[in-house]
Amino acid sequence: MRTFSYHRVSDVDVALAALRQPETQAIAGGTELVNWLKEGIEAPARLVDITGLPLAGVESTPDGLRIGALARMSDVAAHPVVRDRYPVLAQSLLRAASAQLRNMATIGGNLLQRTRCPYFRADTALPCNKRVPGSGCAARHGDTSAQAIFGWSEHCVATHPSDLAVALAALDATIVVRGEAGERRIPATEFHRLPGDEPERHTELRAGELITAVEVPAESGAEHSHYLKVRERVSYEFAVVSAAAVVQLSGTTITGARLALGGVAHRPWRLGGAEQAVVGLSVSDRPALLAAVAADFGDARPLPGNEYKITLAQRAAVRALQAA
Ligand SMILES: Cc1cc2nc3c(=O)[nH]c(=O)nc-3n(C[C@H](O)[C@H](O)[C@H](O)COP(=O)(O)OP(=O)(O)OC[C@H]3O[C@@H](n4cnc5c(N)ncnc54)[C@H](O)[C@@H]3O)c2cc1C
Ligand code: SF4
Repeated sequence: MRTFSYHRVSDVDVALAALRQPETQAIAGGTELVNWLKEGIEAPARLVDITGLPLAGVESTPDGLRIGALARMSDVAAHPVVRDRYPVLAQSLLRAASAQLRNMATIGGNLLQRTRCPYFRADTALPCNKRVPGSGCAARHGDTSAQAIFGWSEHCVATHPSDLAVALAALDATIVVRGEAGERRIPATEFHRLPGDEPERHTELRAGELITAVEVPAESGAEHSHYLKVRERVSYEFAVVSAAAVVQLSGTTITGARLALGGVAHRPWRLGGAEQAVVGLSVSDRPALLAAVAADFGDARPLPGNEYKITLAQRAAVRALQAA
């Protein structure tokens, strides 16, 4: 591991100035970054500890919810407004990682975690365009069982592992970021990038920028919402596939829905076609719901070894809708 300097900051402008220095990285909970240092994925010369910045609050206003980027995952999940009015958000946080990790890990850090593709995380150097641009993609013709079925390119077939990102996509949330040029607001559905020709660019965050907050609009109607996570064991495991659903109902008839999938692409995958097709259906009519969701899988391109994700994701979406 490379030697690095470490200092703490308590002012956002001071932090932004420090992050403009070359080879400098922010550290929040450290639950992801310290792994990268150990695995050789990152080797910064300077670490700027941002946990002293005043960005850890959770605020509920008539416009919605504003969650500071440095709020801990466990604190956000336990917040009474989040628990009561945004169950999909609380569930996505509580079904992630472990209690110890959630006590350290922050909302901003969660969104900036990187793929769990085993080739990206390998101890020995393997071709990986995300890690070393231009080196190739060992996964493309390797073990594809956990890889993407939507939006992948020949340069990278990885998925993004954040559970929170999937819930935020279904809630039409916004990621607020700040840099030298001021504040920018990025829809949660666009914050993570599809690999295209530049898989080494994981998100829309630019060098030197900080995530300051996540905003969830009040009109998201999130009281009827659910996060379903399918994984290989019941806790402390990443999603094989997940689904976040937000539903509006009149009696048992669906009058509006938002659906996002996790574990299927390098960004949360909104099912816009299915969202329209389920309107007017009874929430208990499982065959009709399944047909509506399946019809929105025209763009799916499974790889050899992950065809199972199509059926799994469709069923997860329907179950999340019904649970919501
Ligand atoms: C064993 C294990 C299991 C896990 N399981 C899950 C899971 O099931 N589901 C899930 O969603 N996640 C899971 N995680 C990921 C975990 O949620 C993340 O490690 C955590 O959220 C990262 O937050 P952090 O504050 O520790 O980030 P850090 O490690 O401090 O930082 C991560 C990255 O984000 C940057 N950063 C942090 N905050 C900001 C900010 N405000 N602005 C700009 N840059 C910032 C840092 O510079 C760094 O590049 C797991 C992690 C581990 C280690
Ligand atoms: S899928 Fe992406 S992260 Fe995995 S080896 Fe290929 S380029 Fe690297």
